[in-house]
Amino acid sequence: MSTGMRVGAGSLAALFAGMLCIPLVLGAGKPNQGGWDDACGSTVIEIAADTQTIPPATPGGQVTVPLNPQGRQTTPSWNSSQQRWAGIITHVARSRGLPPRAAVIGVATAMQESTLENIDFGDRDSLGLFQQRPSQGWGTPAQVTDAVYASNSFYKGLEKIENWQTKPLAKVAQAVQRSGFPDAYAKWEQSSGELVVKSWGNAVLTTTSGCDPARTAVGKSTGAWALPVENSRITTPYKAGGGFWSSGSHTGIDFPVPTGTRIQAVGTGTVVKAGWGGAYGNEVVIKMSDGTYTQYAHLSSMTVTQGQAVTARRQIGVSGATGNVTGPHLHFETRTGPAYGSDISPVDYLRSRGLSL
Ligand SMILES: [Zn+2]
Repeated sequence: MSTGMRVGAGSLAALFAGMLCIPLVLGAGKPNQGGWDDACGSTVIEIAADTQTIPPATPGGQVTVPLNPQGRQTTPSWNSSQQRWAGIITHVARSRGLPPRAAVIGVATAMQESTLENIDFGDRDSLGLFQQRPSQGWGTPAQVTDAVYASNSFYKGLEKIENWQTKPLAKVAQAVQRSGFPDAYAKWEQSSGELVVKSWGNAVLTTTSGCDPARTAVGKSTGAWALPVENSRITTPYKAGGGFWSSGSHTGIDFPVPTGTRIQAVGTGTVVKAGWGGAYGNEVVIKMSDGTYTQYAHLSSMTVTQGQAVTARRQIGVSGATGNVTGPHLHFETRTGPAYGSDISPVDYLRSRGLSL
């Protein structure tokens, strides 16, 4: 089960090469020059996905690239060589099955360390895009100047950092790089996000200004993804232990909502099951356009049927207390496959798609 996240996140979205989107830039989401907004305003910026040709995993999907730029942002024009290096760093994140947020951190780090150039010089023995030092165990000089090898090394370090998905970019970059100048990375987040969106394909940028998403209460749904229930909180967390669960631990998260609460799809997909699920009671399972699956259990009634296409915020039923429950709630799971046992962390899943909870 621990490898589930990789498989799921790896089968992401499509690239429509040559597709021209008109950038929609909303003022509320732009980073404030000289500070940042206190309000947790979110907006979605669409950027044309036409500069790189990373093959699509699943046609038709849309990927959210979450940003939370903190402080003054630097947004230079990057030349074609620099954009190509950003594309490679992004592609390595994709090939490792990491969500786009990882690529944003990787590209921003390289912007700070090398201005996105694969340089053969640096401070002391630092080399390459990430200015990794052979003397500090990052690899041979040839390896640290190999963009793919260097990117993989960066992500291996990133994957070891707890909650890297929701921590401020500068904190994560600093922890991987063991840099003495953590704040230096923060100013590149907006610019990095814009390059990652171009490279990832069929992606949208979701910008949250100045707020730590981890501290924002459940209840905000923006962009291509939504929470399954609005204005609730989580009671039973993922992997909670105890004898109640047949697997030995909780395979999803619970939203403690009264019977009759509106339950909605978290994103674009197709209903693969709407019916009785034994201990799950009435359940809806949706195959998402990125190849992952979401499950909504213990419903009192369902308003979709198998084979139906849904988008984010489409009502799929109302909550209840059917199946093996001690009271009414929504049990929500995210999975790499349609069946029980392929669960992955729903909190990581939703956060990596730009949602706050
Ligand atoms: Zn549950």
